[in-house]
Amino acid sequence: MTPPEFFPPRARIAVLTAETVGVLDYLAPDEGVRQGQLVLVPLGPRRVLGLVWGPGKGDFDLAKLRAVARVLDAQPFDARFLDFLTRAAEYTLTPLPLMLRMATRAPDIDQPPAARRIIVPGTGQPGRATEARTRVLQVMADHGGASFAASELAQLAGVGTSVVKGLVASGALTEIEAPRDLPYPALDPTRPGKPLAPDQQAASDTLRGAIRAGGYGTTLLRGVTGSGKTEVYLEAVAECLAQGRQALVLLPEIALSAEFLDRVEARFGARPGEWHSGITRTERRRLWHMAGRGQVGLVVGARSALFLPFADLGLIVVDEEHDGSYKQEDVVYYSARDMAVLRASINRAQVVLASATPSLESWVNAATGKYARLDLRSRYGEAELPQMAAIDLRAEAMEQGRWISPTLAQAVTDRLAKGEQSLIFLNRRGFAPVTVCRACGEQIGCHQCDARMVEHRFQNRLVCHQCGETRPIPTACPSCGVEGKLAPIGPGVERIAEEVAARFPDAKATVLSSDLFQSARALKETIAQISEGDTDIIIGTQIVAKGHNFPRLTLVGVVDADLGLQGADLRAAERSFQLMRQVAGRAGRQSGAAPGVALLQTHQPDHAVIRAILSGQDETFWDAEAAGRQAAGMPPFGRLAGIILSHPDLGTVADFARHLAGLATPLAEVGAELWGPAPAPIARVRGRHRMRMLIRAPRQAPLQAAIADWLSGIRLPTNMRLSVDIDPQSF
Ligand code: ADP
Ligand code: ZN
Repeated sequence: MTPPEFFPPRARIAVLTAETVGVLDYLAPDEGVRQGQLVLVPLGPRRVLGLVWGPGKGDFDLAKLRAVARVLDAQPFDARFLDFLTRAAEYTLTPLPLMLRMATRAPDIDQPPAARRIIVPGTGQPGRATEARTRVLQVMADHGGASFAASELAQLAGVGTSVVKGLVASGALTEIEAPRDLPYPALDPTRPGKPLAPDQQAASDTLRGAIRAGGYGTTLLRGVTGSGKTEVYLEAVAECLAQGRQALVLLPEIALSAEFLDRVEARFGARPGEWHSGITRTERRRLWHMAGRGQVGLVVGARSALFLPFADLGLIVVDEEHDGSYKQEDVVYYSARDMAVLRASINRAQVVLASATPSLESWVNAATGKYARLDLRSRYGEAELPQMAAIDLRAEAMEQGRWISPTLAQAVTDRLAKGEQSLIFLNRRGFAPVTVCRACGEQIGCHQCDARMVEHRFQNRLVCHQCGETRPIPTACPSCGVEGKLAPIGPGVERIAEEVAARFPDAKATVLSSDLFQSARALKETIAQISEGDTDIIIGTQIVAKGHNFPRLTLVGVVDADLGLQGADLRAAERSFQLMRQVAGRAGRQSGAAPGVALLQTHQPDHAVIRAILSGQDETFWDAEAAGRQAAGMPPFGRLAGIILSHPDLGTVADFARHLAGLATPLAEVGAELWGPAPAPIARVRGRHRMRMLIRAPRQAPLQAAIADWLSGIRLPTNMRLSVDIDPQSF
């Protein structure tokens, strides 16, 4: 499909600056421009990026029009991609130029692909194998197929450039001139995968058939952790590549995906393109261009990879589809899972949503037949699901200042005796969630947020988990000034680590918490060490819940299974259930290993969520959750949108929110209800006060149109920010 071309005099250009100017007319160059082409256009004194949108409107004096400065040699966006961006903007109520900007956020997009000097493996020996040199070589090996300048390689390895230069001098590495944008090595889809188990084979056949047929479809691929879902969707990737189309795999914790990249390489003989915050500018630029030219077959990425200008995307896999990190709540509010479905439906592509614990939305969509569903019933091989049991804390003799019950401690002792690993899970970073003054009762809070400062003893600082501000732990109370009365209240993982060290002094313990690692690489190394069995007791936050393989791990102890059950948020039960299932799934996951045990410490062993987890009857839980939501008219049966207003002054934002609520007749006209304004769940962030309104509408109501109607013509007071969050995650 050739995109329409526009010749002089006029072309409409979407101007992609940060301040979102919009769509303007420019004089087209003599040779014409095509829809979807990237150009540079003058704007005031600057030259800015623009995207050719359509023919000029002709309502502006030709003599005053400025000319397109340059047509960039990037691949023009194809019509399906433009259609996707337009509809994504409409759905999320994002101004279109802002959405287009998201799709053009690659470094040096306006620079020609000049040759540059890159580092490639050499033939010589590394000379003296220092730790720094070994790290550089390891980074090269980890990123086979990527091209790095010496400085980027040094940065990734966390060493000085001189280390890389030294390796070049010794001949272990070589520096060559290479074109900037190299195509990615082709993946070979004809290489055979592992022989599949019968249910895997059936799932693979169904997906392959759907991809060959070439239409749109979404499939929920469900199966407990370790049931072989990844193996199945790699078969779908193989089919997509065999059809000559591109595939995208979205992962939640992309920084931790080394294991996954290795698996792709083992399966297809080459590495995929990687897209996430941890890759270099050069690689981002390269991947962006190669996606547009169809010169990367498979991309593995974080949620924003969905906005890459793929030439012909035929498959999108959303792994751990329930994961909260797929929702972006900043500038543009979107759910990558839902946008994947939108993009695929425009592209006649397939979506695979993989999870052991699907989101309620996907569960309901599969139940109503909107999505297909494929189930993998057992773990691959013979490994059994962990046995689950509650530890009723009301019946345990808990010592003051201790959080590991005698029953859990005994289970850990048994594992130590057998040389097996235990995981003690608490989803709370830091040492203690609250620091209180025993003289005046003051709880130390953040200066600019409505949040308590959390003590991080390893860093010896108080940290705001909202804005990241840190300060030294004071010796005197900042409120009453009394010395030596500040006390940590409640446990965080660091405190549990202290307890473990005191109670199991001979065991080797490792704390896994995202804030304790300088880099994704350091975290990866620790995880690799744990996998190899180099730890007796792992103490971890939710990063341990995500898909790592710890073969010697046979016991999971959840310190506080009640955490997350409370709270007004209607998603609390769903999230808690998912997290608990995922964590428990870490125990005894490998085929052939001893069956694992998961013990949940709780004060409410009869709570519906705890009972559902213990009984393993997931369907019962989902059906009950779905029935509750349906009765309340809440998602996915009704629709929700959030409006967040923020301003440095509380009175100003409160007044304006009430004013806005008073104008909401367009909402009532479509049958939507407006709740609030009320203080947002976090009422102050970075010094800005936040008010929230929630809108609930029936499933079929034109919610976006009504909101757009309501907000059109509203002028925001100076310094007021308004964001619309369609399908908010918390409510
Ligand atoms: P999931 O994605 O459901 O967690 P994986 O696909 O990662 O499961 O499979 C779990 C483990 O079992 C992995 O180590 C994987 O290599 C192995 N595995 C899965 N399917 C097969 C198979 N058909 N043959 C051999 N090993 C398999
Ligand atoms: Zn703060």
